Amino acid sequence: MDLEIGGKTALVTGASRGIGLAIAEKLAQAGVNTLLVARSADEIDAHAKRLSRQTKSYAHAADLRAPDAAEKAVAAALARFGRLDFLVNNAGATKRGAFAALTDDDFLDGFALKFHGYVRMTRAAWPALKTAGGAIVNIVGAGGRTAAGDFTIGGSVNAALYNFTKAIAQPATADGIRVNAINPGWIETDRLKGRLAQSAKDKGVSEAEARQAALADLKVARFGRPEEIGELVCLLLSPRMAYVHGALIDCDGGMTRAL
Ligand code: NAD
Repeated sequence: MDLEIGGKTALVTGASRGIGLAIAEKLAQAGVNTLLVARSADEIDAHAKRLSRQTKSYAHAADLRAPDAAEKAVAAALARFGRLDFLVNNAGATKRGAFAALTDDDFLDGFALKFHGYVRMTRAAWPALKTAGGAIVNIVGAGGRTAAGDFTIGGSVNAALYNFTKAIAQPATADGIRVNAINPGWIETDRLKGRLAQSAKDKGVSEAEARQAALADLKVARFGRPEEIGELVCLLLSPRMAYVHGALIDCDGGMTRAL
């Protein structure tokens, strides 16, 4: 099936590693010209150069917690491509830990990047997406549906983003933009490796045992792969998915059992 997205243009946030990088790679394979946005210039420069062998790829370094960063990132995309068809909001990092150990600043920081960052990017990209008849995918997370005591910040941010995604689907309909969210489960990224290493240390077991224990706890056969999220993003951005709008799509190996 041809997804019919070749030659389109995209902006992907948090594209220097993990899920965001896999999304940028899959978009490049599909022939989408992409602006990779992340905090560290060196990392995204190198990835953009590598992806340029497949399609036009550029890097833009920004701290998306800054109030003016979204406008500048969209301006950079428009300066490169002259139009913007797709926005993928993905940059997020929220501190985990016992609630009593988390400070006000930890909460504000988590919301600043992942919630306000997504909101500002959406607002900044809106006029260009409206002109292009474009689409947005928000990478949110399963932790918004299933609460966990050590994930109060991430879970709250994700739940807020579910509502935001559904809410903006209404004005998006009027403006010819599609918007959807993906909720990844546990995906094989450096973040997951670090988490499993910490869990192994805390429990005094090997990393392989910590991995098996996590899989048994989540009741999933395996962890997800970043490229699986990348492929789902390409599908959702495709005009072939024109009737999928305002949807919150779990991609978690079956770990979310709530309706
Ligand atoms: P990661 O930590 O591997 O990468 C995060 C990306 O965001 C990097 O490119 C980093 O440069 C960028 N970033 C961090 N702070 C930034 C800032 N202040 N300004 C601009 N960019 C910044 O993350 P990941 O594990 O690939 O997760 C990506 C998204 O998916 C996040 O929103 C995360 O909450 C969500 N998610 C991940 C998992 C998982 O298992 N990995 C599960 C559910 C949801």
